[in-house]
Amino acid sequence: MREGIHPEYYQATVTCNCGNTFVTGSTKKEIHVEVCSKCHSFYTGQQKATQARGRIDKFNKKYGVESN
Ligand SMILES: [Zn+2]
Repeated sequence: MREGIHPEYYQATVTCNCGNTFVTGSTKKEIHVEVCSKCHSFYTGQQKATQARGRIDKFNKKYGVESN
């Protein structure tokens, strides 16, 4: 068996600009993304984009996160 041919595989902590964090498998330990499944209209559905924004506002209020 040769060493060094397989990339290290981590439980990567992904941090999104919206404040959401989640864990995924990756070759990196930490990942920063601008959008995630919780805040991107591609995932939430464009028709639900406004709803999603409202949910994020509620989330931010609930956890005392300032938007700016
Ligand atoms: Zn997000």
